[in-house]
Amino acid sequence: MVKKIDHIGIAVRSLENTLPFYTEVLNLPLLGMEEVDSEKVRVAFLKIGESKLELLEPTSEESPIAQFLEKRGEGLHHVALSVDSIEDRIEEIKNKGIRMINDIPKKGAGGAMVAFMHPKSTSGVLFEYCEKKGIEHNE
Ligand code: ZN
Repeated sequence: MVKKIDHIGIAVRSLENTLPFYTEVLNLPLLGMEEVDSEKVRVAFLKIGESKLELLEPTSEESPIAQFLEKRGEGLHHVALSVDSIEDRIEEIKNKGIRMINDIPKKGAGGAMVAFMHPKSTSGVLFEYCEKKGIEHNE
């Protein structure tokens, strides 16, 4: 069902200032960077074994990440779970009483379809369901 942790999302104020820790201290390969308009963020993906780290930098004050940084500061933001048939998975957990932030999946980074669960339903963890429809980052 849930196949693996696709990635862990980390909120940062500046990719430029943060990336050297990951690429030069931890020596993780940078898979790519891109801007995600729907979330008003710029993201960088780093490969870590079978999973990835996703660094998220806000591109606008209205970005959910800007609001997160203001309230909680930099740090862990979300855990993304890799699934197939994301619409069915959403239906399934809603039937089990989980509230979704996104009832309908939206386009995330890397062409994936993503949907977030409401952290009030998951004891404080922002989980993302993430489905890659044949488009994988070069892993
Ligand atoms: Zn993510």
